[in-house]
Amino acid sequence: MSQAVTILGSTGSIGVNTLDVIARHRERFHVLALTAHSNVQLLAEQCAQHHARYAIISDISRAADLRLALSQAGSAAKVLAGAEGLLAAATLAEADIVMAAIVGAAGLKPTLAAAKAGKKILLANKESLVIAGGLFMQAAKDAGACVLPVDSEHNAIFQSLPLGWQSGLEDCGVERIILTASGGPFLNTPLADMAQITPTQACKHPNWEMGRKISVDSATLMNKGLELIEAHWLFSAQPDQLDVVVHPQSIIHSMVAYRDGSVLAQLGTPDMRTPIAYALAWPERIEAGVQRLNLAQMSDLTFREPDLDRFPCLGLAYAAMSDSASAPITLNAANEVAVQCFLDSQIRFDQIAALVGQVLERAERSAVNSLEDVFELDRDARAQAKEVIGQWT
Ligand code: NAD
Ligand code: MG
Repeated sequence: MSQAVTILGSTGSIGVNTLDVIARHRERFHVLALTAHSNVQLLAEQCAQHHARYAIISDISRAADLRLALSQAGSAAKVLAGAEGLLAAATLAEADIVMAAIVGAAGLKPTLAAAKAGKKILLANKESLVIAGGLFMQAAKDAGACVLPVDSEHNAIFQSLPLGWQSGLEDCGVERIILTASGGPFLNTPLADMAQITPTQACKHPNWEMGRKISVDSATLMNKGLELIEAHWLFSAQPDQLDVVVHPQSIIHSMVAYRDGSVLAQLGTPDMRTPIAYALAWPERIEAGVQRLNLAQMSDLTFREPDLDRFPCLGLAYAAMSDSASAPITLNAANEVAVQCFLDSQIRFDQIAALVGQVLERAERSAVNSLEDVFELDRDARAQAKEVIGQWT
């Protein structure tokens, strides 16, 4: 029977790739609801093309524009709007699968709502796990929601883990999880030039086409730091079981090292449609439309240690993961402000790490027991970040 899919964040890079895979498998999947923050034009076109039943715009002031765009595009989708509309979309009774592809902490509430509703969740929104991993994984467990990682590294790890890993990594012979990092566009840029990097340069990833926020995170290696924390929660891995290795070609998407010396890896061309297709059809495999690997034509697969002097964000994230429950929330919020300010040309590239470091230094450590705690810490860190930037400019 065809499965109903809701995509939270359908107008983004992951959302568009998800629709591409779904369109290749009309007999297996149909689109139930699509959401966007403000891009009404693309949302309306997507709704018309994929016969969505619901169109959701989280920026409530764009609801009238969306109605008009839908009627022009020939879609009869019902419009929902604002935070309430997003929550309704995430929990629709008819939905079998929810793709969580909103960027940033804004994705937490709807993604958590989908988990509480016991949906099959395809998780791209890593920030949800970074800021509320404990609450999120517990909610999913309590509701019997299946969480499948879409982030290419975590998808690769998921594919390389043994059956029964949920009962404990050590019990099934897993020694380490090794996340690969491309190193981003500035892997070999002289340190003295890092301050002059522009938003356009930072958003031009050598191997992946992604949204602007994750592109900047990839350039600072904060993305890899967020992914360490994501792996910690997804696989119940202790910080000392998690490694990062730089692999500039992005062909090996991550690895699992076992007690007997075996290392299992997942390889593929860098195209998000592979992990998306894997998560959509799991445990089956479906055509994803991606170019096949030609190993014989590949000149090099190289590996090296990450350079923490060049990429201080990775060290900050690693330290935050081991520090306290509140530190990753502070780290993420400060980083979201820093990246936006960098994209708006208010701060330099090298000031992203400096800002996150300063906000972490100022922040008090505290327990995190509820969603309210998460958002209070998030708000405090954003305010602190803006204060620091105010002092700089
Ligand atoms: P993007 O910027 O291309 O798209 C983001 C989507 O979220 C858009 O549909 C946008 O309308 C929506 N959105 C933005 N702000 C919102 C808000 N405040 N409220 C509600 N909706 C909002 O981002 P992306 O590159 O597709 O990434 C999405 C998520 O997936 C991120 O968490 C990212 O880290 C993760 N991810 C992306 C990739 C990739 O290849 N793009 C790979 C791995 C993980
Ligand atoms: Mg990734």
